[in-house]
Amino acid sequence: MSSETCPGCRFEFVPVQIRTHEYLEACSGYWDAYTRVLAKEYSDPAYFEVHRVTVDAYAASHPGRSEPRIIQSIKLHLIGLCMVFEFGKDPNSSTPYLQLAKDKFQSDFQWLQGQKKAEVCVSRVLLSKDAKSHQELVLDWGQTVWQSWSDTHALIRSYCENLL
Ligand SMILES: [Zn+2]
Repeated sequence: MSSETCPGCRFEFVPVQIRTHEYLEACSGYWDAYTRVLAKEYSDPAYFEVHRVTVDAYAASHPGRSEPRIIQSIKLHLIGLCMVFEFGKDPNSSTPYLQLAKDKFQSDFQWLQGQKKAEVCVSRVLLSKDAKSHQELVLDWGQTVWQSWSDTHALIRSYCENLL
């Protein structure tokens, strides 16, 4: 079967017959891989340890169209990644910061630009053999998604500093 290029992360996937997320634009093959990663995380607490990074990495690599709620959403997910990769927060502890960011920066709809293709795709996370390697692969993937938004790092860091 021919592959398709995902409009969000720009990796190639074989199409599958499923529904994709309504506003974060991913192709069906990506969505399929992502939901399989989520299934692992929801079925085992050790896999779930890095769930926050999984969600943020997925969303940040699929920014979709420039509507206010998407701009808001991408910004929050980048703040989540920044908290983990720049400020050393445990993935489990970054959620309250996202709530705070939502309250604080609600009306700031600055459009973020400069997303590059990340070096690692979600499919690689599915290669994990156990919870430990799952955690490592998710952190690795999340780190490359964070790097793919390097043009926004100064801005996102300033948001994070405001929250700490
Ligand atoms: Zn994608």
